[in-house]
Amino acid sequence: MELNQNKKYTIELASIFNRFIAINIDFIIIAIAYFLLYYIIDILIPVSESLLIALLRFIGVIVIPWFYFAFQETTGNYATIGQKIMGIKVTDEYYRNISFGRSTARFFLKMYLSAMLLSSIGFVIAFFTKKKQALHDLIVKTIVIKDTGETTEKPVEKVIKVCGDCKTVYHPNKSDFAKGTFICPICGKENIIWNKK
Ligand SMILES: [Zn+2]
Repeated sequence: MELNQNKKYTIELASIFNRFIAINIDFIIIAIAYFLLYYIIDILIPVSESLLIALLRFIGVIVIPWFYFAFQETTGNYATIGQKIMGIKVTDEYYRNISFGRSTARFFLKMYLSAMLLSSIGFVIAFFTKKKQALHDLIVKTIVIKDTGETTEKPVEKVIKVCGDCKTVYHPNKSDFAKGTFICPICGKENIIWNKK
């Protein structure tokens, strides 16, 4: 997609409430899929084949949720159904779409570190970090933003300025250059543009 260098890309962080609702929508969908699989397995496979049942239930508990998040966050709308409904998406620290590998790492850290091992304290951390990053976000360097429908596919080499305070990447527009400053969309700090082009 062509990038409009004169366009101001306003990036807003997603609210923690919207993220909470989104993940609950996703878990309801996954739970429905799991119970459908569970009953299909029970009907199709005799009870004696317990190993096969255990394997298929492992697929239902681990593989389906993993693929649900990783595929949706890295293709098409770059958002899960829950995220799409709530108008949010997961990006990297430069607000670009994330890779399957990063989404996978984020999923397992979210489930097993932030949620289980730390009894959801990993999620609570998002209330106290500058970019509302949960523990798994901090580890894999992801940010959850409001999805404005504009591309966030901004190549790193096109990044012009970084906020001196919170390190947010920002693309100054014409009027910013005219003023010689830009206001960081995340922390509100006014930054001086040194290299005018
Ligand atoms: Zn800032």
